[in-house]
Amino acid sequence: MKLLQYDHLPAGLLERPAHELHDVLGGPALIHLEGKNPRPLFVSVLQHGNETTGWEAIRRLLKSHFEYNSLPRSLSLFIGNTRAAKHRLRHLDDQFDFNRCWPGGKYADSEPGKLFREVTDRMRALRPVASMDIHNNTGLNPHYAAINRVRPEFLRLASYFSSKVVYFTIPAGTQSMAFAKFCPATTLECGRAGRVHGVEHSIVFMETCLRLDNIPETSVSAEEVHLYHMVATVRIPDDVLFGFGNVPADIALRANLDSFNFHELPAGIAWGDIHEAPVKPLQATDVDGNDVTDDYFRFDRGLIETRRVVMPSMLTLDRRVIHQDCLCYLMEPVPFEDYADVTEYDILPEGLRRSDRPGDPAPGK
Ligand SMILES: [Zn+2]
Repeated sequence: MKLLQYDHLPAGLLERPAHELHDVLGGPALIHLEGKNPRPLFVSVLQHGNETTGWEAIRRLLKSHFEYNSLPRSLSLFIGNTRAAKHRLRHLDDQFDFNRCWPGGKYADSEPGKLFREVTDRMRALRPVASMDIHNNTGLNPHYAAINRVRPEFLRLASYFSSKVVYFTIPAGTQSMAFAKFCPATTLECGRAGRVHGVEHSIVFMETCLRLDNIPETSVSAEEVHLYHMVATVRIPDDVLFGFGNVPADIALRANLDSFNFHELPAGIAWGDIHEAPVKPLQATDVDGNDVTDDYFRFDRGLIETRRVVMPSMLTLDRRVIHQDCLCYLMEPVPFEDYADVTEYDILPEGLRRSDRPGDPAPGK
């Protein structure tokens, strides 16, 4: 796999929907487009081939700017998994998940990992004003932004997209985590693919970043950012047969389980029925990979029940996503006092606290 780099848009590219890009590009591509302000905005789309909102937003954004021949600032566009996009899938069975292969992740030495290191090194040298990676999800989720460092400019950047902001450090090897070392970076979750609202929302966000001189380092208010901290990943073990609604499987999850996303659930809420019970029909692991299932769930009453207050995100009814990724993530709200005047914080499983480790240097400095 070789990284294609362009200093212009390949002819006709904007006319192509996501599933036709592979015929033109043949693989991941980094396209640099010149604007008035030379310091680029970095935009990543289609890391997951079936998450088309980012590409749709870029198509429309660039068409409108090229009509007037005026990008307010340079734009470096990364187009990710074109081969999976051709098949309208997150990734193919013979591929890694691209958004686990960036520097810092355990697949960094894989073939796509080497290519992404090249992208990272090239972009670090260009000193982007900000980085955004545009995604969709399959369940019923609000639009939200995710960050990997709790710093004023990261919170500010995320707030331009949504007041719902998620801080995460798992999974490792994501694009936003790699770029967070040298510029404000965010992952945008734009709800389901194919919805016009997600496309429009992404365009507004990109326009904002294209026009700003830089991302302000002023503190955010409690209204601007509601910060959540990702504490665990929940998976269904491979040998557990599961279904949704009234089904004769080992576990029958609620038919509308994804309506729980971004809702604070008290203890004792049932996620589904256990028919044929393996000891742990769900498995929760914390940010360090420890099994924390028993902290969050109980299974002793023929039900899958929450054991304490949790807020799930990314709950999905899509079996393929559940197999390839996970059932959901669990989050806890971070009190505003804890991020009101941050310079740099680490959020640890016990809660938020000021980093006493010598951290990475401030991005862009
Ligand atoms: Zn994605």
